[in-house]
Amino acid sequence: MTAEQNLLRHNWTRAEVEALFDLPFNDLMFRAQSVHRQFFDPNEVQVSTLCSIKTGACPEDCAYCPQSSRYDTGLEREKLMAVEKVLEEARAAKDSGATRFCMGAAWRSPHQRDMKYVLDMVKGVKSMGMETCMTLGMLTADQALELKGAGLDYYNHNLDTSPEYYDCIITTRTYQDRLDTLENVRAAGMKVCAGGIVGMGEEQKDRAGLLTQLANMDQHPESVPINMLVRVAGTPLAEQADLDPFDFIRTIAVARIMMPASHVRLSAGREEMNDQMQSLAFLAGANSIFYGEKLLTTPNPEANEDMQLFKRLGIRPESYHAEEPEEVLEEQLHEKIVQAQNDQFFYNAAN
Ligand code: SF4
Repeated sequence: MTAEQNLLRHNWTRAEVEALFDLPFNDLMFRAQSVHRQFFDPNEVQVSTLCSIKTGACPEDCAYCPQSSRYDTGLEREKLMAVEKVLEEARAAKDSGATRFCMGAAWRSPHQRDMKYVLDMVKGVKSMGMETCMTLGMLTADQALELKGAGLDYYNHNLDTSPEYYDCIITTRTYQDRLDTLENVRAAGMKVCAGGIVGMGEEQKDRAGLLTQLANMDQHPESVPINMLVRVAGTPLAEQADLDPFDFIRTIAVARIMMPASHVRLSAGREEMNDQMQSLAFLAGANSIFYGEKLLTTPNPEANEDMQLFKRLGIRPESYHAEEPEEVLEEQLHEKIVQAQNDQFFYNAAN
């Protein structure tokens, strides 16, 4: 087994993952923070900005989503934004410190007639020196190749929850459809952003099931958003019971341990977290956030509040080294893995 395979595991069993969730909180946090420090600067957080390029009127029935046309949430529908308008927003995001610009459209999958505009958006944002990410629904292999050709770095497509709980949340596309899209994204050579939502009435075993699916992929998603359900009036999950905040933090910590080299993103639901909870999430290994006033259609803490919190915690936004070629990054990852293995050896020897 190579050093990479030894630390970046892809063969987690559900029992092992559930045992991580069952650890005493302090032990889990210590483990997650120790792993985090082996792969990342613990005082750096990657900052992305999200722009909704087409809002509402989605034919899918995701039970948490205010953009579904099946639920009356009072959301104002907006057609696909003009390319120039998207580029203006990207410029503003760059000026306020974002290094990655994520563009989301409420589609089941992109229509061929929209692809031209979407590709122009990717090219325009990329030319500003920012990383690009899109979430447009299901992708065919050809669409994934077109996006990659335009310069798209990341594609987001979440698994949402465990395969077992999935049917309680969405019926208009299957779990396998989602896995197929992720496979098309990977095969096209793009980075994968895939995670899920916590607090939809699932049990701990479902959170373990979600993370097992993600971590057992041939390659871990480079970005793993862990969302906390935002209960929106009019959606089927509007009256969902409160989630114990520690269950959310545990999910972040277990994701960090299972996918040590991935960015774990504190995503939707941050609005409802106080500063103490957000800082616990950073301690558990979250190292990416969305910055800006809106997270697609749900509120996100005011951008300047984020920067104030960063200042109080001594956190710096992670910079994006556009000039680093892929091989250099791979070499750096390899070095971190070897270093982490050595640390583990000395830790074991000392205990
Ligand atoms: S989550 Fe995406 S696919 Fe599901 S209803 Fe909302 S916009 Fe549509």
